[in-house]
Amino acid sequence: MLLPLPALHATHAGIWIAGPDGEVREASRGEAIARAAETPHIILNAPLVGQRLGYAELSGLDLLELFAFVHPARFAVPTPAGLSRSVGMEPPAREAEAAAVLQKIAGKLLDVLADPDWPEREGAWTANASLHRLGWGWAPLAGARLERPERGERMLFSRLAQWEETPDPPPPLATSVDPEEARTKLAQLTGKHAEPREGQQAMAAATAPIFAPRQSRDGPNMLLAEAGTGIGKTLAYLAPASIWAVRSGGTVWISTFTKALQRQLDSEGPRLFADAKVRARRIVVRKGRENYLCLLNLEDALQGGFAGRAAVLAQLVGRWAAYSKDGDMVGGDLPGWLPSLFRRAGSTALTDRRGECVYGGCPHYRRCFIERAERAGRDADLVIANHALVMINAARSRETAPQQIVFDEGHHLFDAADSTFAVALSGQEAIEMRRWIVGPEGRSRGRRRGLAARLMDVASYDEEGARALEQAIERARALPSDGWIGRIAEGAPFGPVEAFLAEVRGTVYARSKAQDAGYGLETELADPDGALVDRSAAALEALEALHKPLSVLSRRLEAVLEDAPDWLDSQARARVEGAISGLKWRRETLSAWAALLARIGGAADADFVDWLAVERVDGREYDIAINRRWLDPTRPLSEVVLKPAQGVVVTSATLRGGDGWETADQRTGAAHLDSIVGHFEAESPFDYGACSEVLIVTDIRQGDIAALAGGYARLIEAAEGGTLGLFTAISRLKAVHARIADRLARAGLSLLAQHVDPIDPGTLVDIFRDDPRASLLGTDALRDGVDVPGDSLRLVVMERVPWPRPTVLHAARRMAGGGSAYDDRVVRARLAQAFGRLIRRQGDRGVFVILSAAMPSRLLRAFPPGVRVSRVPLDEAIERVRNLLSRSEAETSVVERGSEAVADFD
Ligand code: SF4
Repeated sequence: MLLPLPALHATHAGIWIAGPDGEVREASRGEAIARAAETPHIILNAPLVGQRLGYAELSGLDLLELFAFVHPARFAVPTPAGLSRSVGMEPPAREAEAAAVLQKIAGKLLDVLADPDWPEREGAWTANASLHRLGWGWAPLAGARLERPERGERMLFSRLAQWEETPDPPPPLATSVDPEEARTKLAQLTGKHAEPREGQQAMAAATAPIFAPRQSRDGPNMLLAEAGTGIGKTLAYLAPASIWAVRSGGTVWISTFTKALQRQLDSEGPRLFADAKVRARRIVVRKGRENYLCLLNLEDALQGGFAGRAAVLAQLVGRWAAYSKDGDMVGGDLPGWLPSLFRRAGSTALTDRRGECVYGGCPHYRRCFIERAERAGRDADLVIANHALVMINAARSRETAPQQIVFDEGHHLFDAADSTFAVALSGQEAIEMRRWIVGPEGRSRGRRRGLAARLMDVASYDEEGARALEQAIERARALPSDGWIGRIAEGAPFGPVEAFLAEVRGTVYARSKAQDAGYGLETELADPDGALVDRSAAALEALEALHKPLSVLSRRLEAVLEDAPDWLDSQARARVEGAISGLKWRRETLSAWAALLARIGGAADADFVDWLAVERVDGREYDIAINRRWLDPTRPLSEVVLKPAQGVVVTSATLRGGDGWETADQRTGAAHLDSIVGHFEAESPFDYGACSEVLIVTDIRQGDIAALAGGYARLIEAAEGGTLGLFTAISRLKAVHARIADRLARAGLSLLAQHVDPIDPGTLVDIFRDDPRASLLGTDALRDGVDVPGDSLRLVVMERVPWPRPTVLHAARRMAGGGSAYDDRVVRARLAQAFGRLIRRQGDRGVFVILSAAMPSRLLRAFPPGVRVSRVPLDEAIERVRNLLSRSEAETSVVERGSEAVADFD
C-alpha cells in the first residue's frame, strides 16, 4: 500500500520529490529544503541527504530507522536498491524513480508490523510506546499497526539469555598433528567435488607440525607462510588447527587485522561444524571490550540518561540487543550505518569504552555480552580475534596468554604491535584516568562511577584499603579535568600535569613546521628547555604520588580475596577481581608515563622513539601529548606474545612484501627468537598476466589538482564505475571528489568517499560492493581492508606513490632500517596490498593505475610476477582500461596455472 506521505531523494545527480499520490518531480535545492522543513518527508539516510542538500539539520521520516526498528540485527545495504531487495521489491531502475520507491518500502515495512509471523515482534510495542514519548516520527504510524500485547511484554533484560559459570578448562593435552592427517582433514573440509589444490595441501601439511609440543622454553614452534591469493590458506590452517583443538581440548586463536577477514573466517564455520548450536559453542568471535554493548550503560540511557536523538538511538539499540547474536556494536550485527544516522551521538557511550565495568556489582552481569563472550572463548576450539586483542591478552597475564596462535594478515603484525605497545601521556588519556578513579564531577551525568562507589563495601570493611582509596581520589585530582585544553590555550593551566602539557604545546609550536596546515604538529623530544624539564619533574612527582595509594589498594584487595569475609559471594568476588585487574592496568600506565617523564632532560633510550605532539583537525586542537614508541615493536611482541606461546603461524599473501625472508623475520618478531623458524611459500594459482595489468600514467603533473581530478573522472567513466581510488592525503581526496562527483552522477556513476560522506567505512564498502557502477575514494584503511571479489571492483587508481609520511617516528625507523631501502620496503608492501584488492577470485580482472610518473622502477617488484607494467599517457591508459574490461570474461578471466578452476578465495 502506498503511504500518503511525501518522499525526498537527493544525490549528486539531482533532487526528486514524490508527492503523497506517488507523483515524482524534480525539485531545486531551495524548494526541497523548504518542503522538508514544512512537512516530514520519507528519506533514506538523513545526514547524507542533508549533506547533498547543503542543509545539515535536515530531519524527517528516515527509512533506515524504521528498518532498524522492524528488523533489528538484520543486514541491509542502506541505499534505495539495497533496502528494496531486503523487503523483496525490485530496485529502482533510475535515480528519478527512487523517491516513489521509498514510499513503497515504507509501506512494506509498516505492513510487517501487522504480520502475525513477524519474528521480531517481541518488545516492539513497548519500545514504540517509549519512542512515541520521545517524538520519533514513525511512532504514530507504527503504533497504529502494532497490536497491544495481551499481557505486558517481558523487559528487554530478562529476555536475554544468561551465561553459565563453568570451571576453568584443564590445560590442553600435549599432542601432535600428523601432516597426512591435516591433508585428509582439508580434503574433508573442501568437499569431495573440489579440485585438490596443491599449494593448499602443502600449506596444511607444513602447518601441522606447529601444533606439536614445543622443544624449548621461550622457543615456540613458529612458521611464516606466504600464501598467494587463491591458495585457500584459511582452510589450510583451519584443518590442522581443528584437529589439534579436538584432540588436545585446547583453543587455537585465529587472529586477523581486519573485520572483513574476521567475518569471512566466521562464515567458514559451517564447514567445520554443520550444526549451528555446536558451531556457536566451538567457534567464538572475540573482540576488545569496547566493541560490545554494556547493558548497564544501555539501561541508564533508556531510563533518562540520554536525551533527544541519542535517546531514540538507545531505544533502537535496545531493540537490537534482544535479537543480536553477540552484542557486538562495531562490525557485528548492529548495522554499521545506525550510529551515523544519529551523528554518532551516544553510540560510544553505550559500550564499555572507559573500563568502568562493575562486574559482579552489575545487575546484568549474568547476561552481559562481554562476560558471555569471554567465557565462551575459554571453552571454544577456535577463537577468532584480532591482533590487538591477542597482544593485550598476552600482555595482561601470562596464564591466560593464547598458546596456539595463527596470525592471518600477518603483514600487519608490526603495525599492530606498534600501537599495542605504544605509550602516550596526553590530556585525553590523563582525563580518562582521572574519571576512572574520581568518578563524575561537576555537571557530568550518567552512571559513571569512580573507584569509591565501586568499592564501597570493601572500603567499609578494610581500613587501610579505605585510606588508600581516599588518598588515590585526592591525588587523582592533580590530573587534567574538563576544559583542560581551553585553559591551556588561555595560558591558565591547572595542576602539574596540565602545566606540563602547556609546556609541551609551547615547545611544539616553537619547533615544528607547517603550523598553518591545520593538521597535527609534532617535534622530537630532544634538547628540552629548562621550563619543560621543570614541569616534567613536577608532573612526575604527581604521578608517582598517585601510583602509591593505587598499589596499596591493590594489595588490600588481594588480601580481601585471600581471606574472604562472609559477604564476599561470587558476584562480589568478581567485582573485586575486576577492580584488581583495572588497577593493575592503570598502575602500569602510570609507570609507563613516569618513565617517559623521567627521560626528559636525561639521556635518550635507544630502544624508544619519543616525541611531543599537538593533535589538530582543521586547525582545531583536541589533544596534547608526549608519545613513546618502540623503535622495533617486534621486540615486545616476541617477549610478550611469541615466546610464551606453544605454536605460532604467521601467514599472509604478502608477508615478504616483495623482499626476502629476512624482512619477514624482522617484521614478525621471528628474528628475536632463538628457536628455528620455518618458512613456507605457495605462489598464487592465478595467472595475473592474463587478467590484470599495471599502468603508470606519465602526463599528470604532481600538484595539478584539476588534472588529477580529470584523470580520475575519465578513468572511472572508462571502467563504468567499479573503481577504488586511493589517496595519501585527505585534502586531495576531498578536492578530487568535489570536482567530479556531480559529473559522474549525471552519467549514472555514483561516487562514494570516505571522509566526505557521513557513513562509516564498512558501510561504504557494503554499498560499493552492492552496486557495480559505484566507485569509492578512500585512504589507508581501504587499501588494506576492502574485500570485494567479483565485478564491483575492476579498477584501482592510486593518486601517488604511497611514501611514508615524514614523521619523527618514521625518521627514526628509516635511519635504523637502512635509509631509503627502508622506505622502499614500506612502499612495496603498500603497493602489494593495494594491488591485492583487485583480483580476489576466479573470474576477476582488473587494471591498477598509478597517476604519478615519479614511480621508481625498483618498486615494481611489489606486483606479482607476470603482470605487465607500462608507462603510458592518460589517453592510452583510458584506452587500455576500456579494452581490458570490455574483452569477454572468457578471454581474460583468472585461470589457475596448470589446473582447471579455483573454487573460492582467501
Ligand atoms: S557487567 Fe560490566 S560491561 Fe557487563 S553490562 Fe555490567 S557494567 Fe556493563
